Amino acid sequence: VTTFAGRRVALFGLGGSGLATALALKAGGAEVLAWDDSPESVARAAAKDVTTGDLRGADWSGIAALVLSPGVPLTHPAPHWSVGLAKEAVVEIIGDVELFCRERTHLSPQAPFIAITGTNGKSTTTALIAHILVQAGRDVQMGGNIGTAILSLEPPSEDRVHVIELSSFQIDLTPSLNPSVGLLLNITPDHLDRHGAMESYAAIKERLVAGASLAVVGVDDAPSRAIAERRTGPLVRVRVTASAAGVPFDGLTARDAAVFDAGGAQVADLSGIGSLRGPHNWQNAAFALAAARAVGLSDEAIQAGLRSFPGLPHRMEEVGKRGPVLFVNDSKATNADSTEKALGAFRDIHWILGGKAKDGGIFPLVPLFDRVAHAYLIGAASDAFAATLEGMVPYTRCEILEAAVPAAAENAAASGAPEPVVLLSPACASYDQFPNFEVRGDRFRDLVRGLG
Ligand code: ADP
Repeated sequence: VTTFAGRRVALFGLGGSGLATALALKAGGAEVLAWDDSPESVARAAAKDVTTGDLRGADWSGIAALVLSPGVPLTHPAPHWSVGLAKEAVVEIIGDVELFCRERTHLSPQAPFIAITGTNGKSTTTALIAHILVQAGRDVQMGGNIGTAILSLEPPSEDRVHVIELSSFQIDLTPSLNPSVGLLLNITPDHLDRHGAMESYAAIKERLVAGASLAVVGVDDAPSRAIAERRTGPLVRVRVTASAAGVPFDGLTARDAAVFDAGGAQVADLSGIGSLRGPHNWQNAAFALAAARAVGLSDEAIQAGLRSFPGLPHRMEEVGKRGPVLFVNDSKATNADSTEKALGAFRDIHWILGGKAKDGGIFPLVPLFDRVAHAYLIGAASDAFAATLEGMVPYTRCEILEAAVPAAAENAAASGAPEPVVLLSPACASYDQFPNFEVRGDRFRDLVRGLG
């Protein structure tokens, strides 16, 4: 990126995307001074010829910008010390997406750029859009908060589509955010209990909508609905409903495993697509349809892409079938909210759950317990979850996944139900027994494959 050619830039955070940013700035002729609290990261960057040095000792008067990597706290609970130094020196603080946006404006302002944000469903929607466009033969670059760092991708150009997932943090550090299509899926108050936090969270998400040439906004929650109402430029509204009845609607409706246009015509059929089960995924599909239409795809091409979407690993991922029994890996479900989606998508469920519980445990899932045939408890939350299940769902304490999978497989096969499901949807963090949810899901997949 050439925006800082000939100028000095400070960079804090030398993880994957930080290092990519340092190299891109250097390649574009900037003088970079980079630092990280981890000596290993500093050594790795130095080995790639990045100039490193503690920013506390730098001469800030000659620095044009501070670039922060994802994960470096910008605001709460306390901002990182490098943010304090930059503010004191009145140096602008930006992220790698800002560098991309400036480069795009400079190089190819008409280059298609689809940006996706929201509290839930970002990765699924991002991957779905990229998949649909690739299937249709388009040159696609996918990254950002999902997968590859944005500055490791090919540069913007008019015959190439960038499909970029953005966290709130990344939007906050991107004052020039100007996607050709901006998607805001939803805003829910996850983990935002401090007064005022919700307002500022919504205000950050709104910036993506405000800067977009075309905005696509989910209108099922109040903050997103208000953002859609304030929008003056081109807008597609997306809603999820349970029935065809109701007030006329001028946007896309996701309902009954299908997507409907403003006039009520069905424009996508999602029935039988395993990777797009459940109303939340119908919503994701409606967003993908709006984005793909905006970059010129026909509804037929979009339908073909939807049908062949393999889904993302660890999110209601179908990992196998033995006789009538379907095995589903939903290891990404680390809280009751996510597990609610999985339980709502199946019946006759043999549910493997547990780990390190979050506040509230599985109480919010009680209304879905009639879908569960049997529960298999693992990990630290076993006592607490057993107490909630008691008298409503039969359960077995398995302690570990290695015991839970064969027990669930055997009971499901013997149950006589036409389509029983063995579902790993833990409603818990994994770190009492696994390094992360990916390792937990991979282990589940291996255990299913190893069943006799
Ligand atoms: P993110 O990238 O925003 O964390 P993912 O696409 O990885 O979202 O999905 C994570 C979980 O969130 C899924 O397992 C599912 O339970 C839930 N989810 C997915 N899409 C939606 C949606 N549109 N609305 C609400 N929840 C969703």
